[in-house]
Amino acid sequence: GHDLGGRYEILERIGGGGMALVYKAHDVLLSRNVAVKILRQQFVHDEEFVRRFRREAQSAASLSHPNVVSVYDVGQEDETHYIVMEYVEGSNLNEVIQERAPLQAEEAVRIALQICDALEHAHQNQIIHRDIKPHNILIGKNGRVKVTDFGIARAVTSSTITQTGSVVGSVHYFSPEHAKGVSTGEKSDLYSLGIVLYQMLTGRLPFLGESPISVALKHLQEDFEEPRAVNPHIPQSVENIVVRSMRKNPGERYSSAREMLNDLETCLLPERLHEPKITFDF
Ligand code: ATP
Ligand code: MG
Ligand code: MG
Repeated sequence: GHDLGGRYEILERIGGGGMALVYKAHDVLLSRNVAVKILRQQFVHDEEFVRRFRREAQSAASLSHPNVVSVYDVGQEDETHYIVMEYVEGSNLNEVIQERAPLQAEEAVRIALQICDALEHAHQNQIIHRDIKPHNILIGKNGRVKVTDFGIARAVTSSTITQTGSVVGSVHYFSPEHAKGVSTGEKSDLYSLGIVLYQMLTGRLPFLGESPISVALKHLQEDFEEPRAVNPHIPQSVENIVVRSMRKNPGERYSSAREMLNDLETCLLPERLHEPKITFDF
């Protein structure tokens, strides 16, 4: 049959969102499986989308880290724009959460740690992910976490909220400043990671609403139910990380991924992980 770029044999569809479709494929030249992300047909004549798609490849390709999905190749064949990536056999974090959240605190922290490690590397390379959410976190069969989808390399304005379903979905992970449409930075990624950690620990999203706008407003204005009120098995030290990363004022959040990483590592010390759940014993 026909191989994309004379090299990639498309095997099956494995995913896709508003902008692109993702396929499992076989790289005939190197004789290994890869993931191929293809820009949706309806966007191939839209310069802005093509530019954004290329930017995604460039952002991801400038990173080299065990917790970031590697980009191998990019190409264009007629109207097909594609990015070839490392194939991660396993599931995405959204599937894991739907299947078995709340996760044990230790597992949730180990996953958050790897996401945070990937973010530290990205931030050191001046790349803000801007779309950290469970769909964009892949978990290999070996348990290794890989962050993907560096598709939104620029601030998303509020008008984006009304667009495609996949974009609407991410409003649950938007930082307050992102919801306002003002510029976002490293701390916005850490806020989104805080939401992901909250969801792994409790099995719930902190803010739900009738519409994307109402969810965005809650990020800006509303307090969330504390994780330990939802699930009392969560250690205090882990709740503290969630609360700190989800502060409305960016100035009160972790100043860097490195700082959050330190706290996540500390949580895994046996005395912290298994700290007594009842603090007052009469
Ligand atoms: P859009 O940018 O249009 O929203 P998308 O964000 O949905 O597209 P991705 O997040 O890159 O695209 O991928 C969508 C899904 O495809 C992932 O949630 C995952 O299930 C699967 N997937 C993506 N990349 C890989 C990969 N390298 N290996 C295995 N599965 C993948
Ligand atoms: Mg995605
Ligand atoms: Mg995307």
